[in-house]
Amino acid sequence: MFFIAYNYGMIVGALLFVVGLIMGSFLNVVIYRLPRGENIVHPPSHCPNCGHRLVALDLVPVLSYVFLGGKCRYCGANISLRYPLVELLTGFLLAATVFAKDVGYIPYATFALFSIPIAFIDIDTMTIPEVLVYPLIALLALYRVLNHQWAFVSSALFLFVIHYLVHHFVPHGFGLGDAVYSLAVGLMVRWPLTLVWFILTYALGTLIGVALIVRKRAGRKSPIPFAPIMFVGTLLALTAGKPILDWYLGLFF
Ligand SMILES: [Zn+2]
Repeated sequence: MFFIAYNYGMIVGALLFVVGLIMGSFLNVVIYRLPRGENIVHPPSHCPNCGHRLVALDLVPVLSYVFLGGKCRYCGANISLRYPLVELLTGFLLAATVFAKDVGYIPYATFALFSIPIAFIDIDTMTIPEVLVYPLIALLALYRVLNHQWAFVSSALFLFVIHYLVHHFVPHGFGLGDAVYSLAVGLMVRWPLTLVWFILTYALGTLIGVALIVRKRAGRKSPIPFAPIMFVGTLLALTAGKPILDWYLGLFF
């Protein structure tokens, strides 16, 4: 029975990976066009350098990039490595949904598919797109309320209050968008993992802040996009949070 179940999970994971690659290709379009105010479905994809319309052969996730050597087939311009990376990331996270029984398969997939464009748009523009973050919160909140999962709801409200207070009272603290996105995080990470999330996310944020200052990419006051850090912190907390918590508690009991 275990053998069958194991293989079933592998097959579903592999299918989700391929679906994720294709969805990642669409998320690349969202990441590029949404901040520019362009329509997401029209016109069809074209090279941002030469404007040549891309055909199916140019749009195969990851493989097109590899076979074309990272260059546009029509004008030879370099294609950003970010495109295949976003596709791979989406593929891996959607495949990882098979392990997300505890937080719920649907919430996990929803959170990943919305957070990828939110994170990259935050990196590009230092803004969290409302048109993505509010539907994400609405969908997750609906799922938690319908399933009476109040530990997630209280975790979300707690994180929102903390980050909103920092946004409101600390100069150069978080943007309002960061506080809003922390609602989505709380709807994924419930007590007592919320505390582990705090430690992991703020450790990561500090590391990245210091690294950017050392590389002279940022001054001490320049803003650092926080949504991607919260997103990675959430993935870490959901993956390693339980073992970390058990280890920590094991030190005392
Ligand atoms: Zn081109």
